[in-house]
Amino acid sequence: MIPIADRLRRLPPYLFAEIDRKKRDVRARGVDVIDLGIGGPDLPTPPHIVHALQAAAAKPEHHRYPSYEGMPAFRQAVARWYGRRFGVALDLETEVLTLIGSKEGTAHMPLAFVNPGDVVLVPDPGYPVYSAGAWFAGGECHFMPLRRQNGFLPDLGAIPADVARRAKLMYLNYPNNPTAAVASPAFFKGVVEFARRFNLLVCHDAMYSELHFDGYEPPSFLATDGAKDVGVEFHSLSKTYSMTGWRLGFCVGNRDAVAGLGKIKTNVDSGVFQAVQEAGIAALTGPQDMAEQYRRTYQERRDVAVAGLRKLGWEVDVPKGAFFVWAPVPHRKDSREFATRLLEEAGVVVTPGVGFGPSGEGFYRIALTVGAERIAEAMERLQKLRW
Ligand SMILES: *Cc1c(COP(=O)(O)O)cnc(C)c1O
Repeated sequence: MIPIADRLRRLPPYLFAEIDRKKRDVRARGVDVIDLGIGGPDLPTPPHIVHALQAAAAKPEHHRYPSYEGMPAFRQAVARWYGRRFGVALDLETEVLTLIGSKEGTAHMPLAFVNPGDVVLVPDPGYPVYSAGAWFAGGECHFMPLRRQNGFLPDLGAIPADVARRAKLMYLNYPNNPTAAVASPAFFKGVVEFARRFNLLVCHDAMYSELHFDGYEPPSFLATDGAKDVGVEFHSLSKTYSMTGWRLGFCVGNRDAVAGLGKIKTNVDSGVFQAVQEAGIAALTGPQDMAEQYRRTYQERRDVAVAGLRKLGWEVDVPKGAFFVWAPVPHRKDSREFATRLLEEAGVVVTPGVGFGPSGEGFYRIALTVGAERIAEAMERLQKLRW
């Protein structure tokens, strides 16, 4: 066999493979494992969206190749939703691009703007697709540590000027996976200034903007003055409407960035099944009561998790968005050792923070993607551990 390409060799080892193996071993012993490691919603897609797909799937016009940039009606639904939700005006012809899930667009963007040796600014800890996309384009990653004392926001002033000058692109993600942190309009204003000063493209992954708690509503980066001159936002229906399997997302904002990404995609894919886009229109323009119900469900689970951890005497911040709890590892363990003990002695899976990057060490992530009663049971099991 021919050897695998260098770009694949450069990827760091997949730390979660170890957890997956241990999980299988523990299950094989007959333990009822409570998996708080799953990063996708467990709740079903709302029925009106499923019905829209069923009806649309029967239409022969959808059985042909879709348009590359997405159906005008879908892009219009996106533009109107952005206007309603964030007060951001988008031109559906030039500022909206349909994606096969936001992961695809996030990973492809560097191919359009990063040359070998260019720097990409990447949050650490973070969603691994940002660094993989940068490396696949031949870029170098400069990791921006997200520290608790900064509210898990990157310290832009700490990025060396020579690195910033070589940077072409910066990834951000708020509400954040894995830390559940949120960003303020003031932070975004600083990002726009930084991007102008160093002439770089900001790629904000706004995946979790609709999963928020306690009446807080996360802002759009694009609502910041001047943001559209320097950046784009990635979004999808995966988390908001429990549609991870459907693969439907979008990139909106700066027209040159949207056009560049579109050019890459024209050469590697042929768009999203139009029946899925029709379902997406039903999601964005239809009743939003299910999305509201999902928020309440995740909030209830969050409250059970936070109360359980506090009862254990473990430190935890109450998240305002996304569906994760990110907390410091207690008892001075490292995050892998801690996660291993929880799995082997309590049958509870949590994700070690170091799996999201070196600055994630000292933390662990709980995903609120199982029922409240399972989370409560996990917390009871943890009470019985002796440290
Ligand atoms: C789940 C997730 C994604 C993936 O989104 P898709 O639209 O399903 O591809 C992207 N970014 C973050 C931070 C995520 O957690």
